[in-house]
Amino acid sequence: MNLSQRIEIIREKILKSSEKAGVNSKDVKLVAVTKTHPVELLDEAINLGLDIIGENKVQEVEKKFPKLKNKYREFHFIGHLQSNKVNKLMKFRPTLIHSIDKISTLEKISNYSSRNDFKQDVLIQINTSGEESKSGISPDEIYYFLDKALEIPSIKIKGLMTIGTITKDEQEIRRCFSLLWKISERIKTKKYQELEMKYLSMGMSNDFEIAIEEGSNMVRIGSSLFGYRNYGKED
Ligand SMILES: *Cc1c(COP(=O)(O)O)cnc(C)c1O
Repeated sequence: MNLSQRIEIIREKILKSSEKAGVNSKDVKLVAVTKTHPVELLDEAINLGLDIIGENKVQEVEKKFPKLKNKYREFHFIGHLQSNKVNKLMKFRPTLIHSIDKISTLEKISNYSSRNDFKQDVLIQINTSGEESKSGISPDEIYYFLDKALEIPSIKIKGLMTIGTITKDEQEIRRCFSLLWKISERIKTKKYQELEMKYLSMGMSNDFEIAIEEGSNMVRIGSSLFGYRNYGKED
């Protein structure tokens, strides 16, 4: 199967799950996760209409993006962001950073964006699976985190992100996504100024249909579009 056929299959599945969830599939954004894949594949993906590109390593962005021939519409940074990499990342002007779980990282981002006269859109990553190895703040820290984050000037919080438990147990996956949805609904009722719970970034190749059913409107899909990743030594 070629890339264009795989895109079609994913779009079809997004459509079906959106219908099940009672939402318009146009409102579910597809982030094409091109990490570990060569720049030629990014160009092909963009050609085929995958206009939101997701990468998870700053080093890889630095290597690949200058060689891109085609223009993407949006670049999303989805990986864990070390604070010493913030300035390097910001040079590429990510449309959205999905993976914020530290106030100090937000402050660094804000320093860059205020110097350059814009506000950076970010999502807060929440660890809904409870696995220690996973990034993200714990669900009960969210209000404490928001209070601090909302004082930082040149960032805009646009929603939440999570990675579901990697398991075949559908109930457990559903629990993670439904928890993120609940947290976001609760935050909405508090009517914070300067905070828009617009995006729920949840769902990857193996669980995006469940995620959409549970309220996701941003899915991050890599391997089912581009095939298995071939990790180099860096990982
Ligand atoms: C790699 C990655 C994805 C995509 O994973 P697939 O299972 O290949 O679809 C999504 N989100 C994050 C944060 C990732 O690092």
